[in-house]
Amino acid sequence: MLQLAQRMSVLGTETAFEVLARANKLAAAGRSIINLGIGQPDFRTPAHIVEAGRQALADGQHGYTAANGIPELRRAVHDDLKRSRGVEIDPERIVIQPGGKPTMFFAALMFGEPGAEIMYPNPGFPIYESAIRFSGATPVPIPLYEETGFSFSAEEVLRKITPQTRLIILNSPANPTGGVVPKAELDKLVNGLARHPNVAVMSDEIYSRLIYDNQPHVSLLGYPQLQDRLILLDGWSKTYAMTGWRLGYAVWPQDLAPLATKLAVNDHSCVNAATQWAGIAALDGPQDDVESMRRAFDERRKVIVEELNAMPGVRCVMPGGAFYAFPNIKGTGLASATLQDKLLNEAGVAVIAGTSFGAHGEGYLRFSYANSVANIREAMRRMRALLKAIA
Ligand code: PLP
Repeated sequence: MLQLAQRMSVLGTETAFEVLARANKLAAAGRSIINLGIGQPDFRTPAHIVEAGRQALADGQHGYTAANGIPELRRAVHDDLKRSRGVEIDPERIVIQPGGKPTMFFAALMFGEPGAEIMYPNPGFPIYESAIRFSGATPVPIPLYEETGFSFSAEEVLRKITPQTRLIILNSPANPTGGVVPKAELDKLVNGLARHPNVAVMSDEIYSRLIYDNQPHVSLLGYPQLQDRLILLDGWSKTYAMTGWRLGYAVWPQDLAPLATKLAVNDHSCVNAATQWAGIAALDGPQDDVESMRRAFDERRKVIVEELNAMPGVRCVMPGGAFYAFPNIKGTGLASATLQDKLLNEAGVAVIAGTSFGAHGEGYLRFSYANSVANIREAMRRMRALLKAIA
């Protein structure tokens, strides 16, 4: 009998990948499947970025690089942060990673151990809770409320801090809700954190460029009082349709950046060299594609929310960012997982049960609207027919 480490039994997963596998299997068997399950842009990576990656390989950029990323890319991130957040960051605090995800894992490994508590949004990206449990720490959920556009309550977060709290994970705009936390709530939280100087914050801002209704993105990097304890997570996956390239970055507090780099050396040595050069082209090059993708998502957002709100037993708040709608389906009388399975098996529409994002997701479904308007309308037609048949 093989003896596995106990921590393997607490590792969670991202159900979106399982639903994707089931949807692909049904599609391979000839079923018509509309995939509103997976959270990735349906656009191609802009051509000038692809070309930069190709050119880098042709130029012989095939070897190991510095573990924290090539200086040219960290300089490009520095410039981008100055443009987007108005903040000047020492490039030595920037660590390039293979995607946004590894930073969550590194943060959980750096702060988590038995006896420690780490707070995380619920419903939230499932890897937060998984990584916290894997570290041995106790995950403490921060409930998000539909009534406030799936924001958290700063007062509640501050109330839940204990002497064991080491790290608070935040995510705005958010997966799976599309919620955007109002600046006033962030101000309140940051003010309150002055009383808890030993608590670090990881702000997952991977959807920072996908915000609607002319709202500015409020970054926690803009609060100088947090600079010695803030980990900012961002990357290229969602903004530049680069999920499969595996490229992300984090800004760490000055003292922690070398430790994050040490974790990178232990884990993956460095990010694929050509991908890093493509990342420079993305940040330094024209941003028209980013804006046209954002506009397309905005149009789809309005279509899907209107359609969902017209269905019996369903109501959906207008998401302020990302590319997810998170309708309340309690009025259908079905549990989230049941409706998820029915939609896939009986209607050929792949979506994700809210419970895949934590216990507070019961009664909700996540729809990724990274799909064409025509497909979204057809998916809605199928869902309406399914709900009618059930009622
Ligand atoms: N953070 C959030 C909130 C996400 O939704 C995702 C991907 O779905 C990630 C991070 C991970 O991004 P990446 O693919 O760059 O690892």
